[in-house]
Amino acid sequence: MSLIVQKFGGSSVADKDRVMNVASIVADTYKKGNDVVVVVSAQGDTTDDLIAKYKEIDENASNREKDMLLAAGEQISISLLAMALHKLGCPAISLLGWQAGFATSSSHTTARIKKVDTSRLKAEIAKKQIVVVAGFQGLNKYDDITTLGRGGSDTSAVAIAAAMHADLCQIYTDVEGVYTADPRKVPNAQKLEEISYDEMLELASLGAQVLNNRSVELAKKFGIELEVLSSLTHKPGTIVKEKPKMEKILISGVAKDTDIARISVTNIPNEPGFAFKMFSLLSAKNINVDIILQSIGRNNTKDITFTVAKDNGAKAVEILEKNYINKYDGAQVLLDDSVAKVSIVGSGMESHPGVASDMFEALADAQINISMISTSEIKISVLIDADYADKAVRVLHDKFFSEV
Ligand code: ADP
Ligand code: ASP
Ligand code: MG
Repeated sequence: MSLIVQKFGGSSVADKDRVMNVASIVADTYKKGNDVVVVVSAQGDTTDDLIAKYKEIDENASNREKDMLLAAGEQISISLLAMALHKLGCPAISLLGWQAGFATSSSHTTARIKKVDTSRLKAEIAKKQIVVVAGFQGLNKYDDITTLGRGGSDTSAVAIAAAMHADLCQIYTDVEGVYTADPRKVPNAQKLEEISYDEMLELASLGAQVLNNRSVELAKKFGIELEVLSSLTHKPGTIVKEKPKMEKILISGVAKDTDIARISVTNIPNEPGFAFKMFSLLSAKNINVDIILQSIGRNNTKDITFTVAKDNGAKAVEILEKNYINKYDGAQVLLDDSVAKVSIVGSGMESHPGVASDMFEALADAQINISMISTSEIKISVLIDADYADKAVRVLHDKFFSEV
């Protein structure tokens, strides 16, 4: 007998038929003699709809109240799934995040899991219940409901698998696994049989939404193998693990991120301490900075350009203008939020020269201009005009996967 954690995303539980379909997958697993903990997301677009609702009242609503609202989405799907399991003759109980023992940090809307107290989960399993847990949520030290950030149910599932020492953690979604690019955008994308944690972490962080990046981080930390598979077709999915069996492949995927804005601070004096002052002002307001480029201008000035999440763009400009840039004649802060980051990821690129030039050649042939470049051992990212993002993904995919 094994303990299996199964997570189902929003589209897998979008309506009555989908909920019954999920119930039958879970019931099959249970009837084979396994203990099962199921983690579910809110149905379909529920979370987006709830966000739209609070924005009708106040765009800048309190984060505590946002969490109270958003956590409601998952409450609907866990209760419906438990009812569907009862209908199939299986004992099942639904639990909210706090009932399932999720203790989180206090930062509303971006809370991090501190601990999963498994006593209730274990007690229910001992009673032979299938436990259906609300993903994406927990409780902070003030006994307030928190949420983990968009896509957080993946992280809830991996956290339970780690805390319960599960034998298997399956992430069911609306595609058949992890592909070499988003299969909805690149029709000839190929399903990967296996992928390493490190490559998956890069792909997830660079915009491949199929897994939340924090879930991959947690899986790597606790050595939890994940299987990503479809809730709609009965096919083997993609295994995410430390060391895939096969030889390192050159490139494992192409990803894009359009949730990004570029900020340029121009004409600042070329003296020590400027980057430090600018970025400390931003980090004091919890604004994360990604690609950074500095260039020396004429007349002993310099420009610093960097990217932030799109939501933080206007706020970052305001902070820099108010607190800093106004002190320097001619200095300017410019915001461009119609940019996209397109990346290729692959552990094989460490030992293969020429990957960057192949990437730039493909973009040049497609007449796509690169405005910034950033690299690590296993990825190369470029910043381009958002209008060309889908085309860039396609030409890069053709370049690296045409003869696979
Ligand atoms: P869920 O609701 O199950 O959590 P998500 O919408 O969060 O599902 O993630 C699944 C989606 O991720 C797919 O429908 C697909 O369009 C997208 N996606 C982006 N990049 C990839 C990729 N490399 N492989 C598979 N899916 C991807
Ligand atoms: N319902 C949440 C969201 O839409 C969590 C998740 O789906 O993982 O972001
Ligand atoms: Mg998701």
